[in-house]
Amino acid sequence: ELGERSYPIYIGEGLIEEAGTYFTKHEISKKSPLLIVTDENVAKRHLAKLESALTTAGFQVHSAVVPPGEKSKSLSVFEDLVTKGLECGLDRKSAIVALGGGVVGDLAGYVAAAYMRGIKFIQIPTTILAHDSSVGGKVAVNHPLAKNIIGAFHQPELVLYDLATLQTLPQRDVKAGLSEVIKHGLIWDAAFTAWVDDNAERLLALDPEALGYALSIGCGIKAQVVSKDERENDLRMILNLGHTIGHALEAVAGYNELLHGEAISIGMVGSARLGVKLGAPQEVYDVTKRVLSRLGLPVQLPQHLDTDAIMEAMLHDKKFSEGTMVFVVPTAIGQVEINKSVSTELVREIVEQLK
Ligand code: NAD
Ligand code: ZN
Repeated sequence: ELGERSYPIYIGEGLIEEAGTYFTKHEISKKSPLLIVTDENVAKRHLAKLESALTTAGFQVHSAVVPPGEKSKSLSVFEDLVTKGLECGLDRKSAIVALGGGVVGDLAGYVAAAYMRGIKFIQIPTTILAHDSSVGGKVAVNHPLAKNIIGAFHQPELVLYDLATLQTLPQRDVKAGLSEVIKHGLIWDAAFTAWVDDNAERLLALDPEALGYALSIGCGIKAQVVSKDERENDLRMILNLGHTIGHALEAVAGYNELLHGEAISIGMVGSARLGVKLGAPQEVYDVTKRVLSRLGLPVQLPQHLDTDAIMEAMLHDKKFSEGTMVFVVPTAIGQVEINKSVSTELVREIVEQLK
């Protein structure tokens, strides 16, 4: 189903303990079983709380715990979850609950989209990065040859963002998640960008008030962009700021060396420099680099990465025609344009200067 169907995103501390109330309010069935999908790291810390809140409220709760990491976004884990769903007696009125980061959200969401041609889905994100993945309705698993290639659009009934869960996140995942938060500022909201610039330390210290504010603005921007464009046309492309270079860096560096958020941080610095070359004010580069540094993110290419390999990884992308590339280019802080004819020569120069 296409279109503008909206769903609530609740953000606050201790929402997991109140999950029963939120589920009841949003008419999740107590007569049909629920399946919580989570990963081992999250299960250890947060699953028992959720199970007990829902059981106490009268829901029939089952849980499936998958190994952590991108490898679980696979067709074989998908099949295991469908098996689990059948064994637990999930029916058309059942809901699947994703408790975890983007991996769990994408995987569980794809199971919810496919099981009996689609059942209800609830997101309980536990990473900062998941503010991005839990909004917009894209769900998917990977194929060995391509990431996110087997997927669907399936909107959640509601998103419950419990800030308390974020307190247990590794510091590196905190920073990497903040990279997508500031991306939303850089593409859409100059005032929010300035706020992050001023409040970076509070965010890194996981101050709940600062985090709650940043995540609500980040989710809000993502929701605005995708509600105007749920099926990936031009507007939605602005969400890819920093991602053309970033994806290439992830591929060349290997996914273990650079986290996604780290790679797009470097990518956003490159895009800002490109923007200035194409006429944006110098502050676009200065502010972008400063705010990313303040968030503890990398703003330079690791020395050992080879420019040719990076260029090749970028040109692999089907969107590029001879000699030119499609880029999300900043024109001011909080503003970008899609430039479909950036010369590959200029991009090479930008990549060189990132070292
Ligand atoms: P993730 O889900 O793998 O989580 C990162 C790590 O943190 C994992 O090891 C996880 O076990 C651990 N973790 C999660 N919550 C924790 C907590 N509260 N305390 C301690 N540890 C915790 O990764 P991610 O960065 O959240 O998401 C990345 C995924 O999101 C990628 O697969 C990407 O493709 C996807 N994504 C999807 C969209 C979309 O629109 N659907 C958008 C962006 C990213
Ligand atoms: Zn991203």
